[in-house]
Amino acid sequence: MTGWDRLRGLVDGRLRLPEDSGFDERTRPFNERFRDVRPAAVLSAAGPTDVGRAIRWSRDSGVPIVARGGGHSYAGNSVNQGLVLDLRDVDGVHVDPSTALVTVGGGTRMKEIYTALRKYDMTLPLGNSHDVGIGGLVLGGGVSVVSRAMGLTCDALVSTRVVLADGTTVTCSETENADLFWACRGGGGGNFGVNTSFTFQARPVPATSTCLVLWDRPYAVEVVAVMQEIMRDAPPEFAARIGVSRAPVGDGVVSVVGQHLGSADELRELMAPALATAPATRVDIADRSYWEAADYLHHTTAGGAFAVRTRCTPEPLPEDALRTMVTAIEAWPGSANPDGAGVALFTWGGVINDVPATETAFPHRDTLFLVSMDTSWQPDESPEVVRKNLDWLTALHRDMGAFAPDTSYVNFTDPDLDDWRTAYHGPNAPRLAQVKRRYDPDRVFSFSQAI
Ligand SMILES: Cc1cc2nc3c(=O)[nH]c(=O)nc-3n(C[C@H](O)[C@H](O)[C@H](O)COP(=O)(O)OP(=O)(O)OC[C@H]3O[C@@H](n4cnc5c(N)ncnc54)[C@H](O)[C@@H]3O)c2cc1C
Repeated sequence: MTGWDRLRGLVDGRLRLPEDSGFDERTRPFNERFRDVRPAAVLSAAGPTDVGRAIRWSRDSGVPIVARGGGHSYAGNSVNQGLVLDLRDVDGVHVDPSTALVTVGGGTRMKEIYTALRKYDMTLPLGNSHDVGIGGLVLGGGVSVVSRAMGLTCDALVSTRVVLADGTTVTCSETENADLFWACRGGGGGNFGVNTSFTFQARPVPATSTCLVLWDRPYAVEVVAVMQEIMRDAPPEFAARIGVSRAPVGDGVVSVVGQHLGSADELRELMAPALATAPATRVDIADRSYWEAADYLHHTTAGGAFAVRTRCTPEPLPEDALRTMVTAIEAWPGSANPDGAGVALFTWGGVINDVPATETAFPHRDTLFLVSMDTSWQPDESPEVVRKNLDWLTALHRDMGAFAPDTSYVNFTDPDLDDWRTAYHGPNAPRLAQVKRRYDPDRVFSFSQAI
């Protein structure tokens, strides 16, 4: 009997080998930069019990195991060369309307959670893409367009069930296994065990409005400078992504995409200084219900292969930084991926920063903007194109180091980061290492940037 036959006999879920139908769909990383990493097998866990069985089997057989939620890790962290533990059937959403507690399976994706919450007009801070998994999102923090007013996804977490490296299951919360609970709130997915469920405190949906405003790229420095001032002084109810980007075709664009938990009239007033700075090519500011806004802000992408590097800044970037950014974007080497390249400033702060940096494992509690620099290419483009794009991004990330510290968001995972422990985890790195030693002393859960 092979090891795979033995595993098949232990579990209720289906084990697939590379030649089986459905294998690629259950193992392919969203970021096709890592599409050549091919696992030996994938087990679609039928439920939490299978998770424990698979972990024990992996330990006994010496085959490395990795959990896959939505598969959206930027660094391909949910695929390995051993066994992928596919959590897509460890899903489901239970809403208790009397307490507003929402329990979701560890492999549930955003779309299913939004759909369930919508029936009750309740919400949580969630990601803006249908297929992102709740596991990766919450374990790394989870920043939503409403986080300035409602906190991070991990701030809404009340408890979670975790299957540990020895195959046993524990519940953790503020009062039970509190050190593991602390680590599950922002320490990063895949490190301590496999979370089979998460319980969150939801809240009623507020009235909202949204904005989408576009300008031509030559106005980038002026518009981004004014937008930074607007966001520094804005109430926590308003959050925006301020972007400067280029695609393979066209001259590029400056964009502001945001949501305000208030009226469109208030939002127009907040945006007025930016609208007065330069002529916009598109202005769409409108009242939208919370659910219309979620659809409107849904992130669409061409996919393909990409790389993202981040820095967190507590202050608006100075004009020199904006010029550095724009000059780099003008010099983008190009590729055939319609997503192109660019820099986006995601507004953080608000109530995110009311929590002390060491109270949860998510350390970036003094950030005003996450500065996210990205480039993309098609997986079949030449190694020369890939190299030029990665070199371009490395140079931009380095040059922005003059203006923003070496701090990075673990969920915008950057496999090329040197001192990732400090950049991702800051003052929480030593305590995360202690939790790792306690719950996974043999490093059953391992990947290149594992704690
Ligand atoms: C299109 C897109 C939109 C995004 N939007 C947002 C956004 O709005 N806000 C934001 O903060 N981030 C966003 N992200 C980043 C996202 O939070 C991370 O990529 C996240 O890790 C994805 O989670 P996943 O479960 O889909 O990924 P996976 O690749 O499946 O998992 C990521 C890591 O978490 C581990 N993991 C997954 N599930 C579990 C589990 N149940 N138990 C233990 N470990 C687990 C995996 O082993 C892996 O190490 C986005 C990413 C993409 C590609």
